[in-house]
Amino acid sequence: MKAVVYEGNGCIAVKERPRPKLEHTKDAIVRVTLAAICSSDIHIKHGSVPKAVPGIVLGHEFVGVVEETGSDVKNFKPGQRVAVNVETFCGECFFCRRGYVNNCTDPNGGWAMGCRIDGGQAEYVRVPYADNGLTLIPDSVSDEQAIFTGDLLSTGEWACRISDIEKDSTVAVIGAGPAGICTMLCARLYQPKKIIAIDISQDRLDMVKAAKIADHVINPTRTDVGAKIEKLTKYGGADAVIEMAGGEDTFDMAWRIARPNAVVCIGAMYEENQILPLPQMYGKNLTFKTGGVDASRCGEIMKLIESGKIDGTCLITHRFNLEDAMTAYDIFENKKDGVIKVVLKMPQGH
Ligand SMILES: [Zn+2]
Ligand SMILES: [Zn+2]
Repeated sequence: MKAVVYEGNGCIAVKERPRPKLEHTKDAIVRVTLAAICSSDIHIKHGSVPKAVPGIVLGHEFVGVVEETGSDVKNFKPGQRVAVNVETFCGECFFCRRGYVNNCTDPNGGWAMGCRIDGGQAEYVRVPYADNGLTLIPDSVSDEQAIFTGDLLSTGEWACRISDIEKDSTVAVIGAGPAGICTMLCARLYQPKKIIAIDISQDRLDMVKAAKIADHVINPTRTDVGAKIEKLTKYGGADAVIEMAGGEDTFDMAWRIARPNAVVCIGAMYEENQILPLPQMYGKNLTFKTGGVDASRCGEIMKLIESGKIDGTCLITHRFNLEDAMTAYDIFENKKDGVIKVVLKMPQGH
C-alpha cells in the first residue's frame, strides 16, 4: 500500500509500505478513506516533536471503514464507518479513568498514531484499543463532516471545556487557523457574549467574520491588539483567552489580553521556549492551562455534528489524492493558495 512516511531530517515522502496486520486482540485494521494533514505533521517534519520516530507513517486525523477487528474488540465490526481518535488510550489507568487520555500510561498511550506508531495517511492503518479509539459515523454524516472529530474538534472542545467559558463570557482566540476555528466553533456552544478572533492573516479573519464564527476580528499587523481588546471588553481583558497560534509573540499576547483572574489556555504547539514574566504578571492572578488535547469526548462531538450544531467542513479548502501528498504538504506548509486545511483522498475511498 501507499503511505506518507516521515523519514527524519526534515524529509517526508510517499512510499510503498506493507499493509498493517492485527498485533493485539484489541486492535482494529481500518481502511482509510480520507486523511487530513495537520500542523503537527509539519512540526514532526521540522524535528520539533521529540517523540516522533523516523520511519513511521504520518497521519493522526482520518476516517475510514473497519476492515478487521481483534477478538477483544466489542463495539465495532467490519464494514462500519469510523472516525479515529488522535490519542490511543487504554481506558483503565489512573489518567484514563479521569478523562486525561493524553497521558495514558500505556506504552502506546497518548498521541501515538502518526508519531510513534504508523498513522493514517495511508491506505490502511492499525488502530490499537479500537473500542476507545474509534467513533462510529452515522449514515447521515459524510467523511468530510466527520474527519475532524478526533483531533481538531476534540482540541477545540477540550480547550473550551477547560477554559471555564460561561454564558456571556468574552472569549478571545489567538489564531484563526484550523485549531483556532474549531475552538471558536466549540466556544459558540456556550453562548458567549462575543468571540474575538486574532490572526495576522486578513483572509482568515475575513472568513471567520463572514461565516459568523467570530463576532470581532483583530489583525495585529494593522491594529493595537491591547487597545482594541480594552475597547471590546468591560474589565480590561477577555474572560477566557485561548492561544492556538504558537507564533513568536502570541504567548505574550495571550496573558496580556486576559482580564485579571481569567483562564489562559495554551493549546498551541511551540517550536521555541516561551518566557513567563512573573514579576510583570504578579497580581493579575491568572490561571494557565497548557498542553495537548484530552480527546475523550468524541461520541458527544459526533452527536453535535449529526445534529448540525458543529460543522467543520468550512475548513477544507484543498483535496488531493494520496499519490499527490507532497504537493498537498507543500501547499499546507507554505500556506499557499489561501489554504486552511488539506485532505487526502485514498485510492479506495469513496
Ligand atoms: Zn493534529
Ligand atoms: Zn490509560
